[in-house]
Amino acid sequence: LITTINPSLLTISTTTSSSSPYHSLFLSLSSNTSASSHLRRLTSLPHIASSHADSLAASYVLSSFPFPSHSTSYSVLLSFPLLRSLSLLSPSSSPLRFSLTEIPAPSDPYSSLASLAVPTFHAYAHSGAVTAPLTYAYYGRVEDFDKLRSLGINVTGTVVLARYGKIFRGDIVKNSQDAGAAAVLVYSDYQDYAQGDVFPDGQWLPQTGVQRGSTLRMQGDPSTPGWSCRAGEEECERVDKDEIVRQGFMPAVPSLPISGKDGVELHKAIGGQVAPDDWQGREGSPVYHLGPGPGVVNLTYLGNETLRKIQNVFAVIEGGTRSVSSSSDWIRVQCSYLYVLLGNHRDAWTFGAVDPNSGTASLLELAERLFKLQKKGWRPRRTIILCNWDAEEYGLIGSTEWVEENRGVLTSRAVTYLNVDSAVHGPRYRASATPQLDALLIQASKMVKDPDNPSQTIYDSWISSSDSVPVGRLGGGGSDHAPFLQHIGVPSVDMAFGTGYPVYHSIFDDYSWMQKFGDPMFQRHVAAASIWGLVALRLADDEILPFDYVSYASELKRGVKTIEEATAGSPVILSPLYKSIEEFNAAATKINDEKKDLEKKFWGIPLRKDQSKLRELNDRLIMAERAFIDGQGLSGREWHKHLIYGTSKYDDYGSKPYPGIDDAIIEAKKLNTTDAWRSVQHEIYRAARAVKQSSLVLNGGL
Ligand code: GLU
Ligand code: ZN
Ligand code: ZN
Repeated sequence: LITTINPSLLTISTTTSSSSPYHSLFLSLSSNTSASSHLRRLTSLPHIASSHADSLAASYVLSSFPFPSHSTSYSVLLSFPLLRSLSLLSPSSSPLRFSLTEIPAPSDPYSSLASLAVPTFHAYAHSGAVTAPLTYAYYGRVEDFDKLRSLGINVTGTVVLARYGKIFRGDIVKNSQDAGAAAVLVYSDYQDYAQGDVFPDGQWLPQTGVQRGSTLRMQGDPSTPGWSCRAGEEECERVDKDEIVRQGFMPAVPSLPISGKDGVELHKAIGGQVAPDDWQGREGSPVYHLGPGPGVVNLTYLGNETLRKIQNVFAVIEGGTRSVSSSSDWIRVQCSYLYVLLGNHRDAWTFGAVDPNSGTASLLELAERLFKLQKKGWRPRRTIILCNWDAEEYGLIGSTEWVEENRGVLTSRAVTYLNVDSAVHGPRYRASATPQLDALLIQASKMVKDPDNPSQTIYDSWISSSDSVPVGRLGGGGSDHAPFLQHIGVPSVDMAFGTGYPVYHSIFDDYSWMQKFGDPMFQRHVAAASIWGLVALRLADDEILPFDYVSYASELKRGVKTIEEATAGSPVILSPLYKSIEEFNAAATKINDEKKDLEKKFWGIPLRKDQSKLRELNDRLIMAERAFIDGQGLSGREWHKHLIYGTSKYDDYGSKPYPGIDDAIIEAKKLNTTDAWRSVQHEIYRAARAVKQSSLVLNGGL
C-alpha cells in the first residue's frame, strides 16, 4: 500500500478533512451585528403563516441568502379565530366577561404594533359554545386525570382548567376530551411563568400574557396526510375536516388559551375539594380547588379552517467535484448528489424574536460566512441546502409537506438534517440528536467559545450541567426535524441556546425582549451559527462521514433498560432485542475498524483512499438510520415510521426510545390481558427486526 504522494492531493485532503483551515476560518468570520440586524428586520411586524407580513419576511430571506435561492409553495389547511368569548357566569350574580387581550406596556417599543398580531387562540380548536361548571386538572397530563379520578372528581361535561408547561398543548386538550370534558381552558400559572419581574422590567410573562399555539395532533397539512398539494395545483386529493376530527387529529371540543390573570379569576370561582399540595400556585395565589363548580363559564369559539398558501425558502450551495489521483489515473469524485440540510422556520405567532427568528437570523449570518469561504476557494464536497420553513407553528407544515413531496429523493440522498428553531432564549447550549452524531456534536462544541464565558468552550459549560453524554435524544414532536427523522429516517439534530423562556408564543416575544434579556450582545446568536455551521461543514466536507454507530449501540441498550424496568414481572422477553443490539454493536465496531483502515497514514501523511470503497462505506453510514424505518409505522399513528425514536403517545413534546413498545406497554398495563402483553412482545420483536435491518446495512453486502 505504498503510494507516491502527489502534492495537489495533499492540499485536497487538508481542505476536506476535519482539520480544514476553512473550518477555522468559518469560526473566525462571525458577526453579531449582522445577526442583530437580520433579527430586527425579520421581527418588524407580526408574521403568522400565510400572512402578507410572512411573505414579506420570505422575500427578505430569499434576497438575503447569498447563494442561488428559490421558494416552493403549498396550499394547506390553516386555522384562524373569528370569534372568541369567555364569561364567568356564577357564583357572582354579575357575569364577568374576560377581554382575552394581551396588554403591552407603553414603554415596549413594539406595543403599538401588538394589535396586528393574531388574537390569542388555539389553532384548529373546535368551534362551539359551552356553558358548564369548571374543574381543575393541573397540567392536563394522563396522570393528572388519573389522580382526579382517584379523588372521586368527575370531569365529564365540565370545562377543564389546565396549566401550560409540561406537555404539548394539543395533548392537554386531547387528554381532557378523552376524560369527558366539554371544553378546555389552558392558562399560564404565575408559578411557572412569572417567577420574577415581568416584561419590560424583567424577562417574565406579564399577567395578561397568553401562549397561543396549535392543538393539531399530527404533522403536516391535516387535509393531505402523507402527501402534499402544491399551491395552484388543480386536482389534488384532500381529506375533509370531519374525518380529521374523527381520527382524533383535530380536537372535538372547544378550547382557548388564557392569561395567568384570568386563570387566577377562574380559580377563585372553583370550589369543592382542595387540590393536592403540589397542584397549588405560588405564594399569594388563592387556594386552588378541584371543582366541579360552583363557577360556571360560557366559552364560545368560532374558528375558520381554510386553505392558504405557504412558502418554504431554500438556498443551495452546490457540492463540488474533486479530482483525486488513483495509482494509475486521475479520477473524479462526485459527492454533490448528497445533501446536508440545515433548517429553521420563519412563521411566528407574533413578532417571533425568539421563536423562530433568532434561528433565522443565525441561519442568515451562517450563510454569509459560508459565502465568504466560497470567495476564498472553498466548495463543499456534498451539497448544502439551507431551508427556511413556513407554517411550523401550525404543525410542522412547511417542512412536512416538503418531506412528503420529496420522500424518494431525500431517502436516497439526505445525509443529515440539522434543525434550529429558536436559536436563542437564554444562556446554556443544548442539543438533541440521533446517537451516531453525538461524537461530532461534542467535537464541534469543543471548538466554539461559550458566549457567556469566553474563557471556556461550549463543551466545558455543557458537560458541567449534565451527568454523562450531554446530548439529548430526539422525540420528533415540537419542531421541523420530526418529518426528517420520524417519517423517513434521516439522522437529525436539534439545538438551541436556552432552556425555555416565559414569553413563548405571546405578544411579548419581540426584538426588545431579545435585546434586553435573550441576547443583549447577540453573541449567543453567533455561537449558535458557529456550532450549527461547523457541524454542517464537517458533514459536508469530511471524506468519511463523522458518524459513530458504536455510541448508537449503547444508546439502544440504554433504551432497553427502561423497557426492562417497565415490564418487570410481566411475561414478555427482551432477549430478541438484546441479541440484535449485540449484532448491531458488532457491525458498528466493524465499520469503525474499516474507517480506521481507510484513514491509515504513512509517516503522518494520509494515504490515498480507495474512492469506491469510500463511497460504499459512506452509503452504509447514511442508510443505517433509514433501516429503522418501518413501512407500516407505529400502530395507531402510522405516519410515525421510526421504530427506535419517537414521541410519547400522550405528549408530542416528549421523547421515547422504542415508541411502539412504549405504546403497547401503556395499553397492557391498563388492560393487563394476555393479548395486550402479546402485543408488547410483538412490538419487541418488531424493534429487534429493525435493529437487525440496520446492522445488516452497517455490515455491508449479503
Ligand atoms: N412548535 C410548535 C408548538 O410547539 C408546533 C409543534 C407541533 O405541532 O408539533 O406549538
Ligand atoms: Zn418555533
Ligand atoms: Zn413556536
